[in-house]
Amino acid sequence: MKFELDAVYVEAAMSASALARRVIAALPGAVPVYTVADGRIAARADRGAADSFAAGKRRMVIMRRRTRFLMGCPAASNEFACCGYLVMELASNCPMDCGYCFLQEFVADNPGFQVYANYADAFAELDRLRATAARPLRVGTGELADSLAFDSLTGISRDLVDYFARRDDLTLELKTKTDEIGNLLAIDPRGRTLVSWTLSPERVFRSSERRTAAPAARIAAARRVLEAGYRVGFHLDPIIAYDGAGRDYADLLDQLFSAIAAARIDFFSLGGLRMTPGLRAAARRRFPRDPLLAGEEVLAPDGRYRAFAPLRMRLYAALNERIARERSATKVYLCMESAGMFRRALGEAAPAPAALGARLARGS
Ligand code: SF4
Repeated sequence: MKFELDAVYVEAAMSASALARRVIAALPGAVPVYTVADGRIAARADRGAADSFAAGKRRMVIMRRRTRFLMGCPAASNEFACCGYLVMELASNCPMDCGYCFLQEFVADNPGFQVYANYADAFAELDRLRATAARPLRVGTGELADSLAFDSLTGISRDLVDYFARRDDLTLELKTKTDEIGNLLAIDPRGRTLVSWTLSPERVFRSSERRTAAPAARIAAARRVLEAGYRVGFHLDPIIAYDGAGRDYADLLDQLFSAIAAARIDFFSLGGLRMTPGLRAAARRRFPRDPLLAGEEVLAPDGRYRAFAPLRMRLYAALNERIARERSATKVYLCMESAGMFRRALGEAAPAPAALGARLARGS
């Protein structure tokens, strides 16, 4: 197992579930397993811990999800040019620890690493939605958790890839900063699963992305899943506007294209560092010595601290030009930016979310 756990808590009603059995069978013997009546209580923040968020990451809670699994992307809003993404929440929190991660604020009150043992209910939900959907759907599991972290324990990816492989109107996006691809290599995705990696320059990785796979390892993993029949995409997000960022991100793209031809990449999503005041305060409190979290961003109209708009625009435009030099049809879009920024940076109008979502789902 690549990530360490202090303990696993299993909700009594889920103790006979396939997920609980798989995790317990694969768990190193030194990790204690406790049965609890209500996983929500085990997932709550331990207010006595020096860093309750970090402590939560080391506590896996296998429990029943009591609410819907599917929802629109939490980043979607009328303010932004969105990509029409649907989120399937199969887990919450993440064993890695990136200094800029929005989960530091979003799940601060319940940071236990929750995994939902009734995840097959999500498939029934999705089948109901498909019956009325007017377009192909792209569904991701990597919003409130990394899609593959702990997959060697949970094995959830096998059921997911298998479900999507049998439905031509759906695309699954697994989003990760790991190289935990062992389960994926054993299944034929029939072109219905796309694995996306968030990529950062070495400097950001070393400064702010604790316990993630190194950028070169992410690229090597992407190449392996591509060869195994998966589609791949990349998120350059968050792009941090430090001195020398333009050169570092361009070098990162050089490194990527020397391993994977642009024509084989489905998309690039670009997004600048953005932090609500609450997230910025939490990040600076937890990582006071990370220079990349100490920038002088400005408070943008959406209430988040961001790099000055002309600086973001220049970075996006330069990266878009670098990708365009590869002369492929790879799609480039912006995440959580306005239609105006999209037009200025990428030189074209932002497509409607439904149209972009359908395009990304089709992969053409
Ligand atoms: S890998 Fe993603 S979810 Fe995990 S800590 Fe980093 S930003 Fe957060």
